[in-house]
Amino acid sequence: MNIHEYQAKAILKQYGAPVSRGVPVMTASDASAAARELGGPVWVVKAQIHAGGRGKGSFKEKAAGDKGGVRLARSIEEVQTFANEMLGNTLVTVQTGPHGKQVNRLYIEEGARIASEFYLSMLVDRATARVSVVVSTEGGVDIETVAHDTPEKIVSISIDPATGAMPHHGRAVAKALGLTGDLAKQAEKLVSQLYTAFVTSDMEMLEINPLIVTSDDKLKCLDAKVSIDGNAMFRHPELLALRDETEEDAKEIEASRHDLNYITLEGTIGCMVNGAGLAMATMDIIKLYGEAPANFLDVGGGATKEKVTAAFKIITADENVKGILVNIFGGIMRCDVIAEGVIAAVRDVGLKVPLVVRLEGTNVDLGKKIIRESGLNVISADDLDDAAQKVVAAVRAAR
Ligand code: GDP
Ligand code: MG
Repeated sequence: MNIHEYQAKAILKQYGAPVSRGVPVMTASDASAAARELGGPVWVVKAQIHAGGRGKGSFKEKAAGDKGGVRLARSIEEVQTFANEMLGNTLVTVQTGPHGKQVNRLYIEEGARIASEFYLSMLVDRATARVSVVVSTEGGVDIETVAHDTPEKIVSISIDPATGAMPHHGRAVAKALGLTGDLAKQAEKLVSQLYTAFVTSDMEMLEINPLIVTSDDKLKCLDAKVSIDGNAMFRHPELLALRDETEEDAKEIEASRHDLNYITLEGTIGCMVNGAGLAMATMDIIKLYGEAPANFLDVGGGATKEKVTAAFKIITADENVKGILVNIFGGIMRCDVIAEGVIAAVRDVGLKVPLVVRLEGTNVDLGKKIIRESGLNVISADDLDDAAQKVVAAVRAAR
């Protein structure tokens, strides 16, 4: 689960990490009130969307144009003007995709004076099964570019969960960033604070870009991007309250209500599959035959007819879907349950695109019979290869 920058900073602050003072707002008048409260003389107006690259982003409507989603304001009037330009406007960044994201909230912060910018992130490294701290002197820029062009400028330090963050981890970070004296001490403290925040909140990723040294020699987290492990949400009701559903894909929210593993993708073929491995294989074979999946969907092992119906409705509601492939291997899942769920959904919402069904396994004959006798226009397939070719051909024929 992703959260907003201002929420991430509030968490970091609880653990003592240095962040700027700021106020989240949803209207321009609240923005100027917040600016007055913070005092100035310089403020930063920051668009709150679940995507990075805001500073270099551009807005769809002209008012704010290509001035970006992070702007320095030198008067309260300017704060209000920027707020007016950003709120309700759509911000496009390298991470939002071409559609961009509507800005509904802003974070008004006191402006910091930057002496230097670094990069720091923490993530779970699956290879070492540890939390890694990744740092670079090349902060404030796109870290993917640094990784590509000058990988030697990225240093990774892994922390043994048995010891947690130790002073030597902090010293390694300070060394990698070229910090000495009091700044090295600050880095040591910061690494320990961030590690505690990371582990206690079950974060999946924490990215501070940039981590800065201010003109008065203080380390400060100037940006913060945090995602929380979805599987740990049950033990963090306080973090679940930070969820902003307006930032999420409506289809994914609906799917999560039905406990379906669903991810929206860019292609044209909607997939309904049981089992994550089979779902991956199905996506691969669709690609092999030259089309792309519109989603990943694993209905799970013990899906009910209602769950299958909900899943099918989510797929058909997607305008990008030009064909549907139902690929079920009945083990625990019974093919007749799938057939009934699909038919119930089609009766309810209709079917405007070709549907290919491949059933195999438990109660397969019954499943096929139910579909045959439904009178629906279903293309049946014998195996995965056949199914993929048929759905790709059907989608192409309809173009
Ligand atoms: P991002 O573009 O989404 O990563 O948003 P950031 O929060 O990283 O802000 C983008 C850039 O704006 C930063 O890299 C800084 O260069 C600049 N910036 C952000 N806050 C301040 C501030 O308080 N003072 C100054 N001078 N620049 C800032
Ligand atoms: Mg940033």
